[in-house]
Amino acid sequence: MKSRTSPKRGATEARSAPVSNVEAEHHESCDDTRSVLKEYGLRYSRPREVILGYLLQKDRHVSAESLYVDLKQRGEDLSLSTVYLNLSTLADVGLVREFKGPSGQALYDSNVTPHYHVVCRETGEVRDIPAPEINGVSLARFLKEYAEATTGWQVDEPRFSLTGLAPRRAKVHAKNQAKNHAKNQVETRSERAAAATDHDNPHGAES
Ligand SMILES: [Zn+2]
Repeated sequence: MKSRTSPKRGATEARSAPVSNVEAEHHESCDDTRSVLKEYGLRYSRPREVILGYLLQKDRHVSAESLYVDLKQRGEDLSLSTVYLNLSTLADVGLVREFKGPSGQALYDSNVTPHYHVVCRETGEVRDIPAPEINGVSLARFLKEYAEATTGWQVDEPRFSLTGLAPRRAKVHAKNQAKNHAKNQVETRSERAAAATDHDNPHGAES
């Protein structure tokens, strides 16, 4: 697989650039898109440019269906099968990476540098985690080589996907937990009060 040079660098810079440069980034990304297609020996087509341009704008993890809907809403005239075909072509040459989403669906990722994912188990939101290195290689490569050395097997490089709660959802959970805790305390207190009353007046119910 070819290594991506300028396009990925451009996309990385775009992600960390201030918001005021959005317009400039847009033009840069159009130029990028065409030069990336050329660099990878892919014929230019409008759908291909649009799909790749969309994915290169920032970190995206999208299904073919959501990409199709987003592009439709932007007024692009594409069919779902065109989206599938082009995503598969872009994945074949290593411009996007296919991975499994939280419910097993195929998602496409414009970040092809070594990284892993953390997926919110409630919203499905996906965040990239840069691959930590062990002995100068990525964690996945390290594990693969370790497993091969240990077993003599030919081992596939693992792809990590961790699940968790996005900060927004974690806040909601913390709030709900605090609410439940307060409610339980009130219930416990009133149960205790009721028990104390019964104790003071054991025949209260009959009287
Ligand atoms: Zn990713």
